[in-house]
Amino acid sequence: MTERPETEFLGLRGLINRAKADKNEERALEHAKRADQLKPGTEWVLKELLELYLKARHYDDAEMILNRMARGKAANGEKVARLHAVIGYERALSKLKAGNREGAKTLILAAHNRDPGFVPASVLTISFMEAGRKREKVIADAWRRSPHPDIAAAVQALIPNETPKDWYARATKRFAAIQPDHRETALVLARASIGASEWGQARKFLNQAAQADPSSSIYRLLADLDEKANADAVAARNWILKSADAPQDPLWICGSCGRQETSWSAHCPSCDSFDAFTWRKADRGADLQAVLEPEVVEEITASV
Ligand SMILES: [Zn+2]
Repeated sequence: MTERPETEFLGLRGLINRAKADKNEERALEHAKRADQLKPGTEWVLKELLELYLKARHYDDAEMILNRMARGKAANGEKVARLHAVIGYERALSKLKAGNREGAKTLILAAHNRDPGFVPASVLTISFMEAGRKREKVIADAWRRSPHPDIAAAVQALIPNETPKDWYARATKRFAAIQPDHRETALVLARASIGASEWGQARKFLNQAAQADPSSSIYRLLADLDEKANADAVAARNWILKSADAPQDPLWICGSCGRQETSWSAHCPSCDSFDAFTWRKADRGADLQAVLEPEVVEEITASV
């Protein structure tokens, strides 16, 4: 081809869009790389490259592009920090798979520092660190930003074979001071106090959580408590009935397609959106419509 570079560059944008429309991401990537050769650093080209590398799970390349994009002011933005954290987390997982634990550790600590509110990186960071003040700070930062059951589980796993009483004492020290009114704090402490047979405390935490932000698991724990503390099967049954009508517990929910998952992943298994999962309660009405066929929804609406 004897096209002038300028003409070729302009043509590439159309070729990239056509390849993407044809779902031929490999070809789109080739065109985007060529465009980057012709005019390095062009904003739209870098954006395309980032999107295509993420889609292809080429996280090392994605990180390189992100570094080129985020020079200057944008480098400190929250969204950029989150992207670095998610990409760093995925790169750490690859290193782990390849047996490179030290490499993974460096990446995961950096990912947590970029965004202490990103739960999966915090969980892995906690499991990687030696005991000491630095690890305590990681736990405190993570719980302050995003209290989450996986973080509590990671903290509990640090001391295997701990007695329930010791775990209850440790959980109180780690979590209660940081987010005393959060439902996740109340839930961790309720579970720990049930384990330690501290019935009065358990009821206090569960009542607190039921008032502030009720969900099914809180009522299931109240059932557990009444059965263990008072052998009261009737009360337990009533709590179970109540749990069925209570709002659902939070889950990872895809912001693009509504898919619900118990564990986070970088790409949604249904719609392949990148970093679309947020930890929240499902909106029951909206999700009912999303999972039911339109005809069924019509039928339900007609029968009301
Ligand atoms: Zn999705």
